Amino acid sequence: MTYKEKGLLFILSGPSGVGKGTVCKALKKRKTNLAFSVSATTRKPREGEREGVEYFFKTREQFEQMIKDNLLLEWAEYVGNYYGTPLDFVEKTLDSGKDVLLEIEVQGAMKVKKNYPNGIFIFLAPPSLGELRRRITGRGTESEDIINGRMTVAKAEIEMMKHYDYVIENDEVERACDRIEAVVMAEHLRRARVMEKYLQLMEGEGI
Ligand code: 5GP
Repeated sequence: MTYKEKGLLFILSGPSGVGKGTVCKALKKRKTNLAFSVSATTRKPREGEREGVEYFFKTREQFEQMIKDNLLLEWAEYVGNYYGTPLDFVEKTLDSGKDVLLEIEVQGAMKVKKNYPNGIFIFLAPPSLGELRRRITGRGTESEDIINGRMTVAKAEIEMMKHYDYVIENDEVERACDRIEAVVMAEHLRRARVMEKYLQLMEGEGI
C-alpha cells in the first residue's frame, strides 16, 4: 500500500507594498514542488499580463457570480477591485498531494484562516525597523498628521502578525525565498505529519 499525503496550503501575506508579488515571482522561478494559485480579479490587466497566468480577469458581474456560486476559497475588495482564490484548483491540487501557495492580501488571509485553519500562514514583513522608520517618516518633510497616520497603519500591520505562524523579513528577495522554502521543508518534517504517514503505512502492511 502506498500512503498518499495531502498537500499543504501555504498563505503568503503581509502589508501592502512589502513586496509579496516580487517574492512570489522569484519563488516561481525556482525549482520547488509548490503549485501557485492563480487568482481571479476585476482589475484591468497590466501590460504583459496574460489571462490565466498572472490572473483570471473578470468583470464585476462575473466575479459576483463566482462569489454566489461558492467558487472562491476567499475573496476581498482591495483598492476598488475584487480579488479571490478559485477553490477548485486549490482543492484538486492539495488532494493530488501537491503543496499550494497563495499570495494574497491580509483580509483574504484572515478568511482563509477561518475556512482552512490547517493552512500555514506566513507574514512577509518590511525589512527592518530602520526601514519601517523610513517608511513612516518618509523624506522628513511630511506633517505630523501624515506621520501619525502612517504610525497607526504600521502598528495595525505589526499587530496582524499575531494571526500568522511565521514572519519572514523581506530584506532581500532571494533570502526571503530561501526562508519560505525552509518553512515549507520544516512543515513537512513535523512529527505529527510524519508519524501519521508511518502509522498508516504500518496499518496497510498489517503491522
Ligand atoms: P495587484 O493588483 O498589485 O496584482 O495585487 C494587489 C493585491 O491583491 C496584492 O496585495 C495581492 O497580494 C492581492 N491579491 C492577489 N490575489 C489575491 C486573491 O486571490 N485574494 C486576495 N485576498 N488578495 C489577492
